[in-house]
Amino acid sequence: MHYVVCMKQVPDATEVKIDPKTNTLIREGVPAIINPYDIHAIEEALKFKDQYGGKVTVITMGPSLAIDALRKAVSFGVDRAILISDKAFAGADTLSTSYVLTQAIRKLNEEEKVDIILCGKQAIDGDTAQVGPGIAARLGIPQLTYVMKVDKIDREKNEIQVERKLENGREVVKTALPVLLTVVKDLNELRYASLPNLIRAARYEVETWNKQDIPVEDKYLGLKGSPTMVRNIFAPPERPGGEMIAGGQEDPDRVVAQLVEKLIPLKIIPNS
Ligand SMILES: Cc1cc2nc3c(=O)[nH]c(=O)nc-3n(C[C@H](O)[C@H](O)[C@H](O)COP(=O)(O)OP(=O)(O)OC[C@H]3O[C@@H](n4cnc5c(N)ncnc54)[C@H](O)[C@@H]3O)c2cc1C
Repeated sequence: MHYVVCMKQVPDATEVKIDPKTNTLIREGVPAIINPYDIHAIEEALKFKDQYGGKVTVITMGPSLAIDALRKAVSFGVDRAILISDKAFAGADTLSTSYVLTQAIRKLNEEEKVDIILCGKQAIDGDTAQVGPGIAARLGIPQLTYVMKVDKIDREKNEIQVERKLENGREVVKTALPVLLTVVKDLNELRYASLPNLIRAARYEVETWNKQDIPVEDKYLGLKGSPTMVRNIFAPPERPGGEMIAGGQEDPDRVVAQLVEKLIPLKIIPNS
């Protein structure tokens, strides 16, 4: 079994600020982390490997800085880490990103058949949740999104059964392999990196694939292959805090009377 995880390095969302003059993200000095959902995708792939055997490959499309994130993935125990990086890929939107990742997965599949592709449900910076489904659509394989639990993989029948997180419950779905899963954080508990894997990660030579290494057409790459236009980016205006009426425990009648007085002019309750 061969499991491929698509992992994105993102700016730490707790540190991201918007320049109020230019309305663009201030990226300088912002630490980069592995997209939080993608760590759970890696963990699930490692669990598959523990249970069913096989190999875990992690790929990321990004700048050379993303090598740090790939080394971190190796420290968790992944077998192979590949950086997909080329000037021609810069400025890619989700359409172009999913194209390049798909072509890389096709190449991996030729080397060693890919059974399960795992993505996070969304990246915390772009937030579109389009890349995973984009890859599945291009490959023409089933996609199971918002996976919160993998019930079983039946290797004889070549099937997988998962539970998908819905707004008001969950849905149990079964489909054939190969499949693409996008995962939520409820899926698993993360493991700690072991000392041997930490040592391996520190020495690991991350492979880099550029546009010559994967079968891509120039017209689908980077800004040229990205029809998305960003018109504006801005922080929503801060909302004023709510008004508190204190003293409800000591004098509830007074507090209710005060509240009614405020709600009537707003026509939230009738004046009768
Ligand atoms: C409107 C808009 C305009 C943009 N314009 C630009 C631009 O001009 N220049 C620019 O550089 N970027 C731009 N981006 C960012 C870029 O499109 C996205 O970061 C990228 O395509 C991934 O989309 P996402 O972050 O929404 O990922 P999502 O679709 O939310 O990610 C879902 C999952 O897909 C996988 N994944 C996503 N990206 C990667 C990756 N790079 N490598 C491996 N796996 C991945 C991960 O598993 C992730 O959890 C733009 C984004 C948006 C929303």
